[in-house]
Amino acid sequence: MLKAYLTIDDSPSPYTDTLIDFLAERNIPAILFCRGDRMAENPQAIIRAIEKGMVIANHSYSHCPAGELSYEEIISEIEKTEKLIDECYQKAAVARPGKYFRFPYIDKGDGDRLERRFGEITGDIETASLFGDDKVRQIQDYLKAEGFTQPFEKLTHPLYKNKAVARAADCLFTYSSCDWMLTRRHQGQFDYKSLDDLKCKIDDDPWLCREGEGAQIVLFHDQPEIGQVAIALITHMLDKGFEFLSVT
Ligand SMILES: [Zn+2]
Repeated sequence: MLKAYLTIDDSPSPYTDTLIDFLAERNIPAILFCRGDRMAENPQAIIRAIEKGMVIANHSYSHCPAGELSYEEIISEIEKTEKLIDECYQKAAVARPGKYFRFPYIDKGDGDRLERRFGEITGDIETASLFGDDKVRQIQDYLKAEGFTQPFEKLTHPLYKNKAVARAADCLFTYSSCDWMLTRRHQGQFDYKSLDDLKCKIDDDPWLCREGEGAQIVLFHDQPEIGQVAIALITHMLDKGFEFLSVT
């Protein structure tokens, strides 16, 4: 059985309701890593997502890469968004399952945008020194003290053999759908230029489509422009027999 945790970044958007309806109809659980600035404008979409069984997590407030912010600014962003998440859970009258955080662009504070160079780091990933400097460690210490955890189990991807990744308080991913490559802003400039390319990427990934007990963490984005891309790719995964796992 192929297993994956579905994670969706940058919610809410004007497309969130459509995406959540698609997932809820198919009983697919997802974690939405939400931006505080967008939650402040549209809390209703997130309350609705909670009511439909989705898990809400923190993706900073302004989506500014952490490498461009001071330690104090990053903590302030995380706390502002935490407050909004708590309010949404209260309004939905649902108990919050846990505190989860993902850095925008997977920049953990040192300016290294791991999301963009995800493909190239997997070569020597077990020993790679990924997150080094004092600010990165300081943020990790804060997250751990505040009770942030990674809710995923049975991760077999080599990335999670790297202790800095496995023990981190923030959530990474083990497979990027690269759906963002089909936005108008980026289309044609990266390796994957069409929906078919992205379906082949799923088919060809050596870890994603490996049968066994392990699970992968897949990353999609909540953006109106590529909402249909996400739905088509999740459908492609269902057709391949994927089971999407719940973190609760
Ligand atoms: Zn993001």
